[in-house]
Amino acid sequence: MLALLATLIALSPAELGRKAAPGLSAIRPEAIAAHVRFLADDLLEGRRSGERGHSIAERYVAAQFEALGLRPAGDRQGWLQAVRLREVRADPARSSLSIAGSPALRPFEDYLPGADATRTEVDIEAPLVFVGYGVRAPELGYDDTAGVDLAGKIVVWLQGAPGSPFPPLAKAVYTDNGVKWGPLAQRGAVGIFSLLTPERLQILPFDRRVRTERHGTVVSAEATPMPPVMGVPSQLADALLAKANTSLSELLDLAQRGKLRPIDLGVRARVRLVSTAREIISHNVLGLLPATEPGAKEIVAISAHLDHLGIGDRVDGDPIYNGAVDNATGIAEMLEIARALATQPHRKRTVLFLAVTGEELGLHGSAWFTRHPTVPLEDIVANLNLDQLSPMWTPHDVVQRGAEQSTLEDHVRVAAALSGLSISPDPVPEQTFFVRSDQYNFARRGVPAACLWQGFRDEGGGGANEAIFRKWRTTRYHQPSDDLEQPFDWSAAAAWARFEFLVALSVVEADARPAWKADDFFTKFLASHR
Ligand SMILES: [Zn+2]
Repeated sequence: MLALLATLIALSPAELGRKAAPGLSAIRPEAIAAHVRFLADDLLEGRRSGERGHSIAERYVAAQFEALGLRPAGDRQGWLQAVRLREVRADPARSSLSIAGSPALRPFEDYLPGADATRTEVDIEAPLVFVGYGVRAPELGYDDTAGVDLAGKIVVWLQGAPGSPFPPLAKAVYTDNGVKWGPLAQRGAVGIFSLLTPERLQILPFDRRVRTERHGTVVSAEATPMPPVMGVPSQLADALLAKANTSLSELLDLAQRGKLRPIDLGVRARVRLVSTAREIISHNVLGLLPATEPGAKEIVAISAHLDHLGIGDRVDGDPIYNGAVDNATGIAEMLEIARALATQPHRKRTVLFLAVTGEELGLHGSAWFTRHPTVPLEDIVANLNLDQLSPMWTPHDVVQRGAEQSTLEDHVRVAAALSGLSISPDPVPEQTFFVRSDQYNFARRGVPAACLWQGFRDEGGGGANEAIFRKWRTTRYHQPSDDLEQPFDWSAAAAWARFEFLVALSVVEADARPAWKADDFFTKFLASHR
């Protein structure tokens, strides 16, 4: 019965395999390698949004789209869509934090000053109240802030979101500071201290956060007001908590046991943040591959982020953050998937290819597109996003990262069966990937979305590739060494691109439009956050 249902939503593997033959043979490892070599070259200077290297990358992708015969789908019938951003940089000399009248603490050394999207001068003086993770999740019957008077208070929350009983996706969604802040702002809270937790620091350590944030924080030019999120490392956290006779480790222990309670910390703090702001314009690049059926309206959106971190602090003498894996490989695979889909003689739906800017700086390009869509958003039936691929080992399994929330899962299953891949649960749910790339902005606007990912299974069914991933993550992720001087397996990259092409073609050719599952967490989350 289940198999029958699945075939109604997606094609059978045999049928999909038959249809996909032209596209599958159009995907070549050499072509993927060539795109990555261009995009990750030092000449592109790390493709930071708003900088010259990103503009060159935009032209490259637009030229490739044009050569593939796509139609421009940006602003005013061009390939590009302008995305307006603002870079806000804290002035350490004029910014400070003091607790209970203590001497001023130093930004970027004692704490991370955060950024205010809409004001260049912030001066907040208020009492502190600890509110657990600061999460209010009505659809899960969970509220860290129940009964707390937040009016005029600075909230002190644990970075991230609760573990059990939150399912991994809910945990991911509620790590988003904006999602946490919304309900607290409505109750009059005026500031945010975020206690940095070992779990989150494992993803990005304090010194690396400092290195990135010193260069400024980039916000959307349309950002809604929200106070700066002060990042508090453990030493300072213990000082904040001392008067209430507790400590960060005690709170983390209570969190583990689901026993967090709000605490009036009995101290006041003063936050002064003076920053300079600079307007930045960068671009998304958009191309449409029209359906072959006349009058077809529905669109499948395939996206990958084009930007990376640009030029920054030298590591081992190298200042260029090339972003070869992150995310030249995603763009390269998207371009070859576009070639494959363009080779197909029949397409029931149109495909939109979207190289987005501003991902590394806060998912800005995809947020901008979903707020200012250049095609009707309601016609977009699904988003498949390509980010953080692992072109270092032959894929043997797939992690769904969002597909399991909707009937996209059926398409993934058929494409996986055809590609000889098994389906694995997320081996690193603590990384909260679903909310950390561009598919999240589509999902938040109700579009079924996924960022499929290579699992760790090796040839013998073991998890040998996990060691490769973890090593890459600690030594190359967001470092200048994510460059062309690392081992790539271009055949593995092509195998993954063929699999993603099969998923895309399955959605393009299916009778039914993908839909969220009714009993799914994200469906309920969307309903309770309208
Ligand atoms: Zn990245």
